[in-house]
Amino acid sequence: MKAKKISQLLIGTNNKGKLREIKALLPKNIKIYSTSDYNLKSPKENGKTFRENSLIKASFFSKKSNQICISDDSGLEIKLLNNQPGIYSARWGGKKNNFDLAIKKVFKKLDKKVFNWRNRKINAKFICALTIYWPSGKYKTTIGKIDGKISNKKIGRKGFGYDPIFIPRGSNKTFGQISPKKKYKIDHRHSAFQKIKKFL
Ligand code: IMP
Repeated sequence: MKAKKISQLLIGTNNKGKLREIKALLPKNIKIYSTSDYNLKSPKENGKTFRENSLIKASFFSKKSNQICISDDSGLEIKLLNNQPGIYSARWGGKKNNFDLAIKKVFKKLDKKVFNWRNRKINAKFICALTIYWPSGKYKTTIGKIDGKISNKKIGRKGFGYDPIFIPRGSNKTFGQISPKKKYKIDHRHSAFQKIKKFL
């Protein structure tokens, strides 16, 4: 039996950058709700993986709103830092989500770890887990990734989070310099979305 098409969907995130991006990925015929329509705060993300945290968010927001919900959990993994900040990517920005602070923390950790890292290639990837959760308790999760490297300084103002220090493989520009339209076509969220869109 063919799955019933989704006509309305709640985007389960309180992060404006993600809300914008997930909205841009979704088919235009779906009526979109956001967490502010229901006045919902985010749940505690106490999972151990991106997958677990995306499920925590999607099930929480779906149960609170009785809507089908799509949530992501994502972050930056830097190989040389044993894949930090990983699932703690948002938390490195502190309570106020200050990404200047988070980026400073990345540079400080790299300074401590490797002499002259600014002249080396620092491999990194963005990872995204996307979960769609139905009020019946059914859910689907997919994972998307994009490889790249860390820029030796912050460049560009177009994105959010760690965008000004991430250079996707094959490019010489950071995500902070690339237009959102272009970024949304190649990044980790897009790749997770390609795998999950058949359930919409
Ligand atoms: P969370 O999924 O809400 O735990 O937050 C993930 C964090 O990872 C975000 O707050 C950003 O700091 C970072 N992040 C995830 N995706 C991106 C992206 O596309 N660009 C820049 N930073 C990102």
